Amino acid sequence: MLVEVALPVPVPRTFTYLSESGSIPPGMRVRVPFSGRKLIGWVLGPGVAGRELNRLRSVERVLDDEPSLPPDLLALCRFIADYYTTPIGLVVRSALPAALADAGRSAPPVRTRRVLRITRELPSLQLRDRVFGRAARQRACYESVEAAGGSVAVRRLAEELGFSLPVQQGLVARGVARLEEELEVRDPFADIPAAGPVAHVPTPAQHAALAELVQAAEARAAQPFLLLGVTGSGKTLVYIELLRHVVRAQGRSAIVLVPEIALTPQTVARFRAEFGDVVAVLHSALSDGERFDAWRARRSGARRIAIGARAAIFAPVQDRGAVIVDEEHEASYKQSEAPRYHARELAVVRAANAGAVCVLGSATPALESWSNAHNGKYRLLELPARVAGRPLPPVEVVDLRGGKVWEQSPGTPDALVPAAVRDRILAPVLVRAIAARLDRAEQTILLLNRRGYSSFVQCRNCGHVWHCAECNVSLTYHRARRRLVCHYCCHDQPVPERCPECAAADISLRGVGTEQVERAVADTFPQARIARMDVDTTSGKWAHHQILERVANRELDILLGTQMIAKGLDFPGVTLVGVVNADVAMNLPDFRASERTFQLLTQVAGRAGRGPAGGEVLIQTALPAHYAIRAAIRHDYREFATRELEERRGPAYPPHQRLANVVLSGTAEPAVQDAAQAAADSVLELLDQHAVRTVTLTGPAPCPIDRIRGRWRWHFLLRSTAAGPLGAVCRHLQLRYEPGPGRAELRMIVDRDPVSLL
Ligand code: ADP
Ligand code: ZN
Repeated sequence: MLVEVALPVPVPRTFTYLSESGSIPPGMRVRVPFSGRKLIGWVLGPGVAGRELNRLRSVERVLDDEPSLPPDLLALCRFIADYYTTPIGLVVRSALPAALADAGRSAPPVRTRRVLRITRELPSLQLRDRVFGRAARQRACYESVEAAGGSVAVRRLAEELGFSLPVQQGLVARGVARLEEELEVRDPFADIPAAGPVAHVPTPAQHAALAELVQAAEARAAQPFLLLGVTGSGKTLVYIELLRHVVRAQGRSAIVLVPEIALTPQTVARFRAEFGDVVAVLHSALSDGERFDAWRARRSGARRIAIGARAAIFAPVQDRGAVIVDEEHEASYKQSEAPRYHARELAVVRAANAGAVCVLGSATPALESWSNAHNGKYRLLELPARVAGRPLPPVEVVDLRGGKVWEQSPGTPDALVPAAVRDRILAPVLVRAIAARLDRAEQTILLLNRRGYSSFVQCRNCGHVWHCAECNVSLTYHRARRRLVCHYCCHDQPVPERCPECAAADISLRGVGTEQVERAVADTFPQARIARMDVDTTSGKWAHHQILERVANRELDILLGTQMIAKGLDFPGVTLVGVVNADVAMNLPDFRASERTFQLLTQVAGRAGRGPAGGEVLIQTALPAHYAIRAAIRHDYREFATRELEERRGPAYPPHQRLANVVLSGTAEPAVQDAAQAAADSVLELLDQHAVRTVTLTGPAPCPIDRIRGRWRWHFLLRSTAAGPLGAVCRHLQLRYEPGPGRAELRMIVDRDPVSLL
């Protein structure tokens, strides 16, 4: 019997093998020979004999007892392979834990442990008196297990709680408990205390949103919702109450996506507090073994709520009742390598396939979602105000144009000018605002979305700017490391003493980064307790957690950092948010530059004033009249969205048109240019042949960053009003476009619904 097998190789086709043991169910892992190697592949279904017939090879072994890829996940993988034009074997491999996907690696051993589990409830004290009589230790043991949720590991009972084995066996003898083996789940979160459950009464707005969600869950309607809730409106409570219904009352399961686990510890803690052990947290810091354990626990139904970043969309939970995407506007939901899927879009698909409710929540939804809420694909739910009658914080602009804000009144002695003002980093109003917070023992968040000390290094004499030798980007000076660093390829080099162009020794550090802000703030407020949170300070496994804990415990006065500090944090002690420079992303050559700026400003502003002490926001900008900044000042998503939708009409960008970015790269620029032209020509020819008018092509042209890691990059954009024809063009490129003889090192990437065009 022939079977069709997906293999993790970069060829857009599947392979046929002979199964000597008869049919193999779809989703089972098999080991097969493939060009001199052994590979793990997945059976997709019955095979068709094609050109391999005369050299057909056999499946060597079937590796699963039950399909490692359940049918609905297999369907999702097929969708991704098709929509994002990626070989299905590569899709499947990225959908499963490495332990199940890599040849040569055997799955980590399954570990079990012995637990004591209560089998009989004793609802009244009289009953307990009767059952236990004078066996006080047994009764205490019973009550400890009861308090821990009904089962506790035998070892833990004996070693930590002091109940000897005979005491435990006594419970068994009395017929109120049982000893049994249980799968052990290695879970590094087990040691992190979950916040105690907080029982809030839903506000009327939360209640109204919930009523609709619960009704949809009851009806098992595959209905996506967009939950537009201002910062601090209590979106998490809505998610939790929905899951209480879906998981507790209906007994179904759920997936919750968050932008990044490390940055959203509070959200995760609330779910753990509420649902305890049925939550599986998928953290990027998990080891392969821990990841595999979590996967198995979800597959078996032991953990019915999967929380994680984008890859959690592949959680093997059956009978889903809800799929939730928190902060749905986040770019991190899009994977930047093949398969280039967008987890938000997959969430809608996975919910639809299971008759589950899908909730996309944000204070600043992606315009794509916003337009879907208007064209009827999604239903719009709103939480228009903060909980407990708290106002959104007032936002003021500090106008950096013309440099006036830095001027001191004449005669001010230098020694009295704060370092941050002298260095033109924080305007005097912001310095005063921080000082007031320090006096009142309140906390401040400072945002600058640029890491390092200074973002470029320039010769004062001739204007030369140091660039990476491999990438066409300027090098960033990192003061702690005393190196110039490329943020694309991580190349680093010593700081130059002389300019290579003019030999002058007059080098200036330009463009303020977080390291420099930290120095200036520390110089200005020597008594303040400051932490910086950016990629450079958070390399350790629990680094984010440690910094955020210190904020929560009021051990820090000032938290400064990149966009990392703008995501969902809920610290009532933060009464001031300062944005050091709002314009960092505004001039990037990307059609989402304004949207990103609006989202970042609105989100970071939303960190202020979450407690009874209120709060305020100060934004330093040289573009105070820009509509993205003006709308952020008013926390007005609708105002921004309306204007931005207009801006995207000409030339047309999403959500008005769908986009695919086709990038060709190679080490020789002329060959890359030729290849881009040839690929574009082949598309134009195809469109012409089939008289397709719904797809248009722009380019080819060099990418905005035209060289990365030594490879030259050219691209062209495909725009379309309809998904179908655009998909057909992408498949044409994937299947038929060949770079041509002698150009094997050329690469083509087809990025559908790209989130970055750089
Ligand atoms: P969002 O994600 O919408 O910014 P959160 O879910 O973080 O908001 O909630 C903000 C704060 O409000 C949290 O501290 C939460 O405990 C609290 N909260 C949520 N709902 C209520 C409610 N109904 N009553 C009182 N406090 C609430
Ligand atoms: Zn580089």
